[in-house]
Amino acid sequence: MNPRDDARRQVLIVGGGIAGMTAAIALADRGHSVEVAERNPDWSVTGWGLSLTGPSLRALHGLGLAEPCIDRGFGITQIANCDAAGEARGVIDLPLLLGPELPAFAGLSRGALHEILREAASAKGAVLHTGMSVDAMDQTADGVTVRLTDGTVRNVDLVIGADGIRSKVRDMLGIPSQAEYTDQMVWRAIVPRPAWATMLHTFAGPVHNAGLIPISRDQAYAFVTENYADQGVLPQHELADRMRDLLGVFSGKVAEMAATIKDAELVVRRPVQAGVVSAPWHQGRVVIIGDAAHAPSPQLVSGAALAIEDSLVLAEELGSHEDVESALEAFEQRRRERCRLVVETSVQVAELERDGHHGEAHKVQDRCHQVMAQPI
Ligand SMILES: Cc1cc2nc3c(=O)[nH]c(=O)nc-3n(C[C@H](O)[C@H](O)[C@H](O)COP(=O)(O)OP(=O)(O)OC[C@H]3O[C@@H](n4cnc5c(N)ncnc54)[C@H](O)[C@@H]3O)c2cc1C
Repeated sequence: MNPRDDARRQVLIVGGGIAGMTAAIALADRGHSVEVAERNPDWSVTGWGLSLTGPSLRALHGLGLAEPCIDRGFGITQIANCDAAGEARGVIDLPLLLGPELPAFAGLSRGALHEILREAASAKGAVLHTGMSVDAMDQTADGVTVRLTDGTVRNVDLVIGADGIRSKVRDMLGIPSQAEYTDQMVWRAIVPRPAWATMLHTFAGPVHNAGLIPISRDQAYAFVTENYADQGVLPQHELADRMRDLLGVFSGKVAEMAATIKDAELVVRRPVQAGVVSAPWHQGRVVIIGDAAHAPSPQLVSGAALAIEDSLVLAEELGSHEDVESALEAFEQRRRERCRLVVETSVQVAELERDGHHGEAHKVQDRCHQVMAQPI
């Protein structure tokens, strides 16, 4: 065994999103010394709501964080599949993966989730540097020398690239991205929560699908998926008007909700990109996790679950292997098939929805959710 491969390892995590922060918490909790370099200087997250599915909540529960997320957000136990006027055509009970005491699902603002993760990471002793990234990495037989963008150098046992779908760490390793555009754009807006929005609502429109998810007592987030959308960037100040236009074909409750989309700063428009990196996710003592390795399309709402599960599995494998390389190999063996299945199914569902095959999309989606419900 290499003398540096003792139980307490020096870990540098690049990226302080869901994967990076949950990895920091899981690793610091096991006694590793953890630093996180997050590129965003103020780490601001505006306008974004997040759906935490059963598997996401179960993985957060593994870090002791499911209940704080439910308390700060909005617990949900049912999905209402509605028509274009917002009238329910079917209501589905969601499986209670954490037992009867806790809701199946939670809506939460991304800002609230980040606060919870940041507090938990710092309570465990992980150090977060914002406005910082990695400039250079040099691997030797017993460690990685990393130069950060502030010019300082770290000698660490492990580098984790948790820097999202456009991962710089992945680029530095020379691993190509597999993410592809599905010809869809998702629009999301934070809106006041209508009193009737106590569950996850989907609205089947004549052209596009939309939905509404409560994220607190006062707020919900609305989304609409635009099919065959142009990828060009639009001015931020136009986004609220344009999102209302897209929702203009809906009526009833949906139209009333759409009328409350007013603040362009609370609207985000993002292309649907998905793919799983086919090359190995690790080289020596550097590994990529989360969206950097496997980014699902939002239709399966599973990106957060996969990212948090990665963190739990990586921490477990580091704890049960004498050397870092074997732990990374074991990590990838446990994760690759599940992540591949979710990402490929998410692309299939996106394409079926885009082309109007909603019934088939629901069937494929349900099969994948059954797989995701299995423990990791
Ligand atoms: C608009 C939108 C809505 C979504 N909604 C949901 C949802 O409701 N439920 C769900 O489960 N999933 C959702 N997803 C998917 C989910 O957000 C991702 O799967 C998840 O965030 C992946 O976590 P991550 O940490 O790997 O990546 P990210 O969350 O993207 O985090 C990457 C982090 O790395 C930082 N970073 C990037 N480059 C560098 C660099 N060079 N150096 C340092 N830091 C860097 C970024 O600033 C960011 O903080 C959504 C995705 C989008 C785009």
